[in-house]
Amino acid sequence: MNRREFVAVPAAALAGSMFAAAPEIPWQRKIRRVGQLNMTEHDPVALDVEAWAEYWASLKVDAVLVSVTGILAFYQTKVPFHRKGKYLGNRDFFGECCAAAKKRGLHVIARMSPDLNWADAVAAHPEWFQRDAEGRTMALGEDPRLFRTCMFTTYMTDYMPAIMREVNSLYDIDGLFTNAWPPLGHLPVCYCNECRRLPASGSLPYWEKFNERTVYLWKLYDAIAKEKKPANFYFANLGGGIRSSANLVQLGELCEWFQCDNQGRGGEGSPIWGCALQGRVCNAVQKGKMATNVTGAWSTGPIRWRNVDKSIPEARMWMNETVASGMAPYHHIIGGETGMGEDRRSLEPAREFFLWTAKHDPQFTNKRSIASIGVVMGQRTHLFYRPPGDVSMPDSMNGLYYALLEGRFLFDFVHEEKLGAEDLRKYTALVLPNIALLSDGQCEQLRAFVRAGGSLLATFETSLYTERNEPRADFGLADVFGIRRAGAVVGTNGNAYSARLERRHPILDGFTDTNIIAGAEYRVPVQSSSAPVLTVVPGFVAYPPELAYPEPSHTNEPAAVIREAGSSRLVYFPGDVERTMWRAGHTDLSRLLQNSIRWISHGRQPVTVEGDGFVELFAWETEAGFAVHVLNYTNPAAHRGLIRKFYPIGPQKVAFELPTGRRVSRVTLLRAGVDVPFQVAGRTVRLVIPRVTDYEVAALYSA
Ligand SMILES: [Zn+2]
Repeated sequence: MNRREFVAVPAAALAGSMFAAAPEIPWQRKIRRVGQLNMTEHDPVALDVEAWAEYWASLKVDAVLVSVTGILAFYQTKVPFHRKGKYLGNRDFFGECCAAAKKRGLHVIARMSPDLNWADAVAAHPEWFQRDAEGRTMALGEDPRLFRTCMFTTYMTDYMPAIMREVNSLYDIDGLFTNAWPPLGHLPVCYCNECRRLPASGSLPYWEKFNERTVYLWKLYDAIAKEKKPANFYFANLGGGIRSSANLVQLGELCEWFQCDNQGRGGEGSPIWGCALQGRVCNAVQKGKMATNVTGAWSTGPIRWRNVDKSIPEARMWMNETVASGMAPYHHIIGGETGMGEDRRSLEPAREFFLWTAKHDPQFTNKRSIASIGVVMGQRTHLFYRPPGDVSMPDSMNGLYYALLEGRFLFDFVHEEKLGAEDLRKYTALVLPNIALLSDGQCEQLRAFVRAGGSLLATFETSLYTERNEPRADFGLADVFGIRRAGAVVGTNGNAYSARLERRHPILDGFTDTNIIAGAEYRVPVQSSSAPVLTVVPGFVAYPPELAYPEPSHTNEPAAVIREAGSSRLVYFPGDVERTMWRAGHTDLSRLLQNSIRWISHGRQPVTVEGDGFVELFAWETEAGFAVHVLNYTNPAAHRGLIRKFYPIGPQKVAFELPTGRRVSRVTLLRAGVDVPFQVAGRTVRLVIPRVTDYEVAALYSA
């Protein structure tokens, strides 16, 4: 067939002939539920393998993770230094688990941990291990019999591949997984011989080497997985939300399954939305491929109990968030002895949740997120930028996130490396929450977005640094916002600056009976040619009150800069308003952010949900039609994430703008299990969700 004939053949004919053997959707993209019992050394004598497999089959999981590991072997390994657990005896524990799962039609992922090994390995292979600045090996703080291995050494290219190939040769597995590598949320600090040749750890050049090595090992392990059979694959522990250590765009291209090790709330002050935020990160880089969030049944948080379950409502909300944000739920219990024996409280609730999702798989199989607002996540900013003050950076995103939730906005995360015209086509507005590091190219992409009619909101030091973390003399986006930097960052001594209302504007709606509102903790002094709607009232001491007054009380320094160009609307805040909002909780700042986001998006959203309560919203086009997800965070412990019980909220009015040519035949509330009436006017479907306890999904069935 020449080219002309090829072009003339109808697609349907091609599908039936030469493309008949085209590969179908890879199996791992069809996974809807995953289970894992994290095996302890004791499990070969403590776990009932048949009961274990039966439990996971009863949850309708598509895959289970089974421990190989690398620290302790769960089978009769011949790889040197792969130490057999002391309760293993002559058993082939991994093999028995694998067979029991396979008998029930479950995929088996072989789970390894390349991060630690024992003193005999240190003696024979000192080159495998991390070293501190004095050249000493680094023992694990909690168990000094174990030592940290280094990812830049032959441990990762000799020892781990030997285990992977041995497991491939012995068992009918479907994939390989590494736990505890790559590291989450921080970059390794190591002074071994290999690492001494690298740029200083924590630096941007080091990060590039770290990413190169991560991609190299990922491809190596994936090739080993495929030696078993072509449909097999390798994946690793990811997660870390917006602070992930590895370049997520690079890994998003590579990885078939984004496994988020985000098992529950972390340390003090982890808000309730940690899992939904993680889902948004996955969506920004995964383009619809498989993502799971590992929900630990065990007690996560600043004080941990691996053997005692966390509160059931807390685990439930984490699973709700997993599904609402587009990931597959993953139930994780530790040890047969504890997780299936001593504390059994999570077993039935997880089964109930999983079986509920299984009843509605097409409604949870998403095609695309429906949102017209994008929030730029700056991975380089989060890794390398240091904000003023002794405060960790996530506050900035937490503050903005909180305001977006309070304002009930639908939004996606957009990775800084995905700002091309095609990536941004669906968005009418982008928010840049102090995205300090932006390259000239990224600034140009944002400029093009504005030229094409897109709107921007940016705060504080956005674009004041290059992608190499080098300070710029002026903002990379100075021309876009019509601003010029007029001095160094100003902080707070006692009383933070406030902002004077100069003229009426929609971003100031709702501020009545006052001439001033709260400013921020830090600000970049700027100049602007336009007449400001808000000006800076300088800070002063908070004590003594005799001196607690502004001098001067009126300046021309903008506290907000607003522009319009065609349909493009631009707002720049010189203050770190969203971070201050998170730290101070001041309602002025949340109102200001919400008003501004509403204004730049022209007050239009494809889906709105009105009602009382503090909620997080997602809307999806699904295999079955469309779905609106409402997560009810109305809870006294929302900001600490420790959910003890739920507080139901009343009617939620949904207005859903359908894409052209689509109709809705039925609306079902999946949690309540009832159909509800709906009205259609033009392209807008309206319905009411009468009550939301913890979570509700309004499924719109559409032809
Ligand atoms: Zn090293």
